[in-house]
Amino acid sequence: MTHAPLRLRLDGAALVANWQLLARLSGSAACGAAVKANGYGLGAREVVRRLAEAGCRDFFVATWAEAAALAGQGVGVSVLHGARAADMAGELPAGVRPVLNTLQQVQRWREAGGGACDVMIDTGMNRLGIAPEDVAAGALDGLSIDTLMSHLASADEDVPLNARQREALAAMRGRTSARRLSLANSAGIALGPDYHFDLTRPGIALYGGKQRAAHDGIRQVVTPEAQILQRRRVRAGDILGYNATWTAPADTEVAILNIGYADGYLRCFSGKGRAWAGDRLLPVLGRVSMDLTAVGVDAAPELGEGDWVSLDYALPETAALSGLSQYELLTGLGPRFDRVWG
Ligand SMILES: *Cc1c(COP(=O)(O)O)cnc(C)c1O
Repeated sequence: MTHAPLRLRLDGAALVANWQLLARLSGSAACGAAVKANGYGLGAREVVRRLAEAGCRDFFVATWAEAAALAGQGVGVSVLHGARAADMAGELPAGVRPVLNTLQQVQRWREAGGGACDVMIDTGMNRLGIAPEDVAAGALDGLSIDTLMSHLASADEDVPLNARQREALAAMRGRTSARRLSLANSAGIALGPDYHFDLTRPGIALYGGKQRAAHDGIRQVVTPEAQILQRRRVRAGDILGYNATWTAPADTEVAILNIGYADGYLRCFSGKGRAWAGDRLLPVLGRVSMDLTAVGVDAAPELGEGDWVSLDYALPETAALSGLSQYELLTGLGPRFDRVWG
């Protein structure tokens, strides 16, 4: 099979090191991994295989289809969106638990015979979850709950809401059959031991995201690379690309790369993004197109058709540059990349 003209270099050692750092930061709590949205764009099966080998036992996906895609890996998988009526019709994969979010989902799960499940409690985010009042009224009585969890709305900020959410979850201790409580995502782990409970659920920091000082040791995992389709000289005063947003101030050497906004390299990188040829920076010139992006290569006279360059994609810095979140930078990376683990 021929390879694609663009690829993601994925650093498996960095992924595992990031999980191990987050597991250490989680203290005595077990450390799981959020692998929804195809492992934040990296490829969920490959992420799960590596983290399971490192000792991770608890994985989180959004939907049953994402859980089914992990079948046969012998790990525990929690489905964050719970169980729809349509999900109950089919056979539920072994080792998979729904995270029940609503009273209707609880009732549906009971009617289907119960069995081990997780439950999401709403402690103030008002996104998903069952209200603490409903728990107090007995909504979860008799359910066989593995993990009772909640989710922090602002873990990457120092706001009073964090402590209020932590206290609301702590107040659930002993109120249900739950074996474990869980609250912290990547940023929540950095809020300290009070937030760790029995199980943490990092996502973005596994993949190189940094939101707090405790994440300083997190390593970059994902580097997009693209092949040069054409090298050309643009004469002083000539334009480049859609809508002629760049005019050459002097004769300029330009390489046209096999990557564009359809691959998740969005138009916000127009005139701003950067690529690397070794240690030489190549500026993105003009508008990013659907499948193509131009970079200036005066600094790299050796580069020609078929050569590869890597895109500057350190998550915190690239988020600041582009205005996209670190999450969008990863989950937007499209299906045309070869995903190459090293
Ligand atoms: C996505 C998600 C996580 C992981 O969050 P990060 O900010 O990526 O660490 C944890 N818990 C729940 C419920 C989530 O939806």
